[in-house]
Amino acid sequence: MSKENQHFGISKHKDYLYVLKEKISIVHPAYRNDPLNMYLILGSHSALLLDTGCGLFPLKPIVDNLIGRRKLFVLNTHTHWDHILGNEEFGEIYVHTNEANIVSRPYNLSFLIDSPYETVEKYREQNFLIPPAQSIIKIQDGYEFALGEINVEVIHTPGHSPGSICLFTNKGELFTSDVAYYGDTFLPRRIEFPKVLNSLSKLIDICDKQKIVELYPSHRKYPCDKTLLTDLYNGIKNIDNLWDSKVYFEFFDSWQIDDEKFTYYIAK
Ligand SMILES: [Zn+2]
Repeated sequence: MSKENQHFGISKHKDYLYVLKEKISIVHPAYRNDPLNMYLILGSHSALLLDTGCGLFPLKPIVDNLIGRRKLFVLNTHTHWDHILGNEEFGEIYVHTNEANIVSRPYNLSFLIDSPYETVEKYREQNFLIPPAQSIIKIQDGYEFALGEINVEVIHTPGHSPGSICLFTNKGELFTSDVAYYGDTFLPRRIEFPKVLNSLSKLIDICDKQKIVELYPSHRKYPCDKTLLTDLYNGIKNIDNLWDSKVYFEFFDSWQIDDEKFTYYIAK
């Protein structure tokens, strides 16, 4: 087995859905949301890859092997480092227009310079500046990828980041990106919480309108159901009540608050 295949956990979840899992805790101990889930959706003539991971090992050969002769589209659900560092391997990347600038230039990873883990040597060789993909295509809410029998709709869900998107298929899968997962949850400043709650409401509405919706988050457990969205919605609404319990977390320059279900990191 090649090193790449040991690095990425590959599972065939459905005939048309693969999950490529990557451990991100090997980069820095502050990151505990293992694994990162990248999803590969296979239509009859095209395939869509959601995110490109940490850029530590080649991902494209694995994806090429899985898609056969299909045309490949590659999308960043948002532009946090663990979702985009493999971009350079792929010629063309789709991303929400609000974050297109971030992935159009080299990505600065200098916040990882003091990591105690050897893994970051790979980044040090590149001076902690990771090259972008050659071409960036900006997309917005409502954009659709037609893969052949499977259509995937882009839903703009700002909050976790300004250009965060979720994806909804005509087969009932909802890919929730970093907008919702069980684990360490990164939130913007408190003043922006209405935006986060509004995005979660949008997703809850989709679940309410459709018969079957399975949720596929970009970290940790999958699939989940609508409860994930309501748990997170209620948890964020309750943060005001827990505000006095906050502690400062230096690495993220954030406030940390815990409840029974989530650990929240809230931008200062
Ligand atoms: Zn993120």
